Amino acid sequence: MESAGRVAFIGLGIMGAGMAANLARKGFDTTVFNRGAAKAVPVAACGARVAATAREAVGGADVVFLCLPATGDVAAVLFGAAGIADSLAAGTVVVDTSTIDPVATRDFAGRLAALGVSLLDAPVSGGQKGADDGTLTCMVGGPAEALATARPFLAAMATTIVHVGASGAGQVAKACNQICVSANLVGASEAMALAMKMGVDPSRVREALLGGAARSVVLERHVQKLLDRDFRPGFRTALITKDLTIAAKALNDAQVFAPVAAAVLQVLKGLGASGRQDDDWCAVGDLIQQLSAVAPPEGTPPAA
Ligand code: NAD
Repeated sequence: MESAGRVAFIGLGIMGAGMAANLARKGFDTTVFNRGAAKAVPVAACGARVAATAREAVGGADVVFLCLPATGDVAAVLFGAAGIADSLAAGTVVVDTSTIDPVATRDFAGRLAALGVSLLDAPVSGGQKGADDGTLTCMVGGPAEALATARPFLAAMATTIVHVGASGAGQVAKACNQICVSANLVGASEAMALAMKMGVDPSRVREALLGGAARSVVLERHVQKLLDRDFRPGFRTALITKDLTIAAKALNDAQVFAPVAAAVLQVLKGLGASGRQDDDWCAVGDLIQQLSAVAPPEGTPPAA
């Protein structure tokens, strides 16, 4: 397939590896970098070149994707001692698919604009499966012309791409998404604990609920993972806690009455404090079961 331009991808974790692999597989001229080179191996097998540094990766790239854990990581990769900002040619579009603070995003966009570089905040939803399958949802903030340049690349990774608004709007949409899904998971976890405590099979409850108004991706996917007691990440507890912290700050700054998000954040912090930062966030249901003195049903496999 003919390439539509050169693309660099930095951050090959649970999400980034699948996203970058899709770019390479779909014929884009792709160079990747991750701190800790082992994560680049499967992406290289899909046809990507592996760079030794982030700066080397972005040399000659028209579009640069970032998929990094948190705000500080994005700041470091852009503007830190080994940062890429000074290596980007004017006209480059940087697409940050990480979930980070909307206010920091606007600051980064301003600093890059001074170098003639556009920044799109483009956080994603859909989990590792969406990343691997190229079926993510992408919420974009930033200039329309930059999105026009990035769209063919984004389309290799996402089936839904919504231009939400100006810089930061994508991160605001993502904060909204995380409020919805985390409240859903905590509520569904309480529901499963109730079924178990009342001696009712939670799998059958889940099956029944999936046919009605409680149907959700969380009930479908994450509650199944909870019932399987499969706590391998997925989506690490540390990351959803980071996301809810961003959302709580935004809710507070905007003076929105939001008792549910506040409570969900406390539950997630409790989960992290219990030593489960690197477990999948569905472990929140396990914590709720423990605090409710629910014994897992007989024959339940031990935690993976
Ligand atoms: P992850 O921790 O698995 O991956 C992050 C990757 O970035 C790691 O491979 C790490 O080595 C790399 N990295 C960190 N600092 C770096 C640096 N300075 N230079 C190069 N590489 C560096 O995280 P993830 O689950 O892939 O999530 C990435 C982002 O996407 C996060 O902001 C997360 O909130 C968001 N997100 C995750 C999911 C999910 O289900 N996992 C879903 C939607 C959005």
